Amino acid sequence: GDAVSLKGVTKRYDRGVVALGPVDFNVRKGDFVSLLGPSGCGKSTALRIIAGLSEPTSGRVQLAGGGRSIGFVFQEPTLMPWATVRDNVALPLKLSRPRRADIGDRVEVALARVGLAEFAAAYPRQLSGGMKMRVSLARALVTDPDVLLMDEPFAALDEITRFHLNNDLLALWRGLRKTVIFVTHSVFESVYLSRRVVVMTPRPGRICAEYAIDTAEP
Ligand code: ADP
Ligand code: ADP
Repeated sequence: GDAVSLKGVTKRYDRGVVALGPVDFNVRKGDFVSLLGPSGCGKSTALRIIAGLSEPTSGRVQLAGGGRSIGFVFQEPTLMPWATVRDNVALPLKLSRPRRADIGDRVEVALARVGLAEFAAAYPRQLSGGMKMRVSLARALVTDPDVLLMDEPFAALDEITRFHLNNDLLALWRGLRKTVIFVTHSVFESVYLSRRVVVMTPRPGRICAEYAIDTAEP
């Protein structure tokens, strides 16, 4: 089945900017899809609409299971500077169910998944840009969401750090098989990471091409 389905979705901002559409877009459960296109083609808008952070002007958005289960990773890690890595990652759990007993265990598992088990007690300022992004990824995964939405997460990182993160994200996805929608304007990144590349063009943001990436692995 589909994890995410957009039908005839448009978005018009105030002052008349038509950012999107209409767009039809489906993502199968467990797939890794890239949204690729130049700045301003509506990638972020589409992602924010899927996440429920923004209302479409028209059209229909459907998420499997009612769509309550989403992890979002922004380009900026947006960590709380006064809180430890552990507490930053625990935040979504504490917000949804403050008294749950397994918060510590889940945080530990999420940090291990991104290779930061040793840094639970560190503060964000002690971490490199790549490590902060890993914390942000752990925070998005800690609630075990069905869908992971990533908005140009590695765009601000140097090329080598970015390559390591690409490889680790790929390994993570192979292990977890979560649905991932990954926004990027890097052709390399989209082809390297995803099973399907959806290309968008601006004014208004529309889907203009789709490619299946044929890999040897299942
Ligand atoms: P992308 O993520 O591909 O760079 P965006 O979704 O951010 O594209 O933006 C698509 C278009 O909508 C752009 O023309 C952008 O300037 C415009 N836009 C984005 N957010 C807003 C907003 N809050 N208000 C008005 N226009 C916006
Ligand atoms: P990106 O291209 O990385 O998606 P943008 O620079 O397009 O980022 O947008 C950054 C922020 O500014 C977003 O929250 C977006 O909604 C907002 N924004 C973008 N374009 C406009 C605009 N023309 N008017 C108002 N807000 C905008």
